[in-house]
Amino acid sequence: MSTGTADSAENRPATNDDADPESALATARRQLEHAAVHLDVDPGVIERLKHPTTVHRVAVPLERDDGSVEVFTGYRAQHDDVRGPYKGGLRFHPEVSEEECVGLSMWMTWKCAVMDLPFGGGKGGIVADPKRLSDGERERLTRRFAEELRPFVGPKKDIPAPDMGTDAQTMAWFMDAYSMQEGETIPGVVTGKPPVVGGTEGREEAPGRSVAIVAREAADYYGYDLDGLTVAVQGYGSVGANAARLLDDWGADVVSVSDTGGAVYDPDGLDTHAVPSFAEEPNAVTEFGSDAPGVDLLDDGSDILELDVDVLVPAAVGNVLTADNATDVRADVVVEGANGPTTFAADEILAERGIHVIPDILANAGGVTASYFEWLQDINRRTWTLEQVRTELESEMLSAWDDVRREVEARDVTWRDAAYVVALGRIAEAKSVRGLWP
Ligand code: GLU
Repeated sequence: MSTGTADSAENRPATNDDADPESALATARRQLEHAAVHLDVDPGVIERLKHPTTVHRVAVPLERDDGSVEVFTGYRAQHDDVRGPYKGGLRFHPEVSEEECVGLSMWMTWKCAVMDLPFGGGKGGIVADPKRLSDGERERLTRRFAEELRPFVGPKKDIPAPDMGTDAQTMAWFMDAYSMQEGETIPGVVTGKPPVVGGTEGREEAPGRSVAIVAREAADYYGYDLDGLTVAVQGYGSVGANAARLLDDWGADVVSVSDTGGAVYDPDGLDTHAVPSFAEEPNAVTEFGSDAPGVDLLDDGSDILELDVDVLVPAAVGNVLTADNATDVRADVVVEGANGPTTFAADEILAERGIHVIPDILANAGGVTASYFEWLQDINRRTWTLEQVRTELESEMLSAWDDVRREVEARDVTWRDAAYVVALGRIAEAKSVRGLWP
């Protein structure tokens, strides 16, 4: 099962031959139990957090272009809202399932808490392959899905955003359908919209930017010079390409990048701006590599995970680092751009081998943080400049990085456990202050 990117319409499902694939929910629950050991939290709170508050399952009928009617299944998992409205993406993907939505919604709860955003966790989607739908069909499907979810979402209840197979246009349709039925324009019902209808500048680049910021901080923490830092990036969609280009701009040598077509490698560092991202030209990384002087193609795209680099950024799909290949990873630091790229078993192997994994819930949290900025702008009816968004994002990321770093140092735990400790500490405190009622 693929768990997928933090925020990308453009990345493809995994063709994952892991002998022991793990569902997002299984990984999320095991990570929760693992981290809970380090924290003096009421076991009742941990038990409550293993279960989502609600999962909405809706039928979404669609009139196809040929006049036939097909009924799709949609979900919205709402994991926990003790700190604020549910927040998280909607994905259109053939592998969407209730279990996957629940697991991903749990990660959103931790992600928002690590970043200290006043949100809980949600995730949803439709079991559909958007590549098999025309633009008109996607629009009708989205509008009907918005109508089915209308009682459960809203700027104060649950705020969806883009995820795999959905994008800014999808969010605009969702917002329009919701607003038309509510009788007023309510931009804050979703984030990740085009700026012209209440989206924010800098939202699209934000997950990749946060990955780059965190990679920079991690490199510095472990004594690497950013200048000449060697980096490999799996996945050249929005997250991977933005992260790679920023790190390249800051002096790192991005020696390898890949997409579903394969991987390219240049020991002197690629010109990342010249490599087409998925949005610019889908799956064109190897095409670029065949023409560019000094650039080699790797035999197998997944070999990128085993390159001898300082920093590896898996930014494509979930479950790519598994018990099968974790022993072959040669990077010193892994920065998770995708959601759930590392299985629980792989995580343990990497930890034993002294490889530092900076978890998704911190590294790619720039997406939901920019979503928070967007929500604030929608509510206040006041727009921010791109510069403002970037400055605020930098400062939020540095403050979250410091919170997690302090736990790493104080408890001698992995970065993932430390991030969970930060998140769980905040959530547990909120639950204890609010109390269990009745
Ligand atoms: N889908 C994104 C994620 O996994 C962002 C969610 C949001 O902005 O609400 O982090």
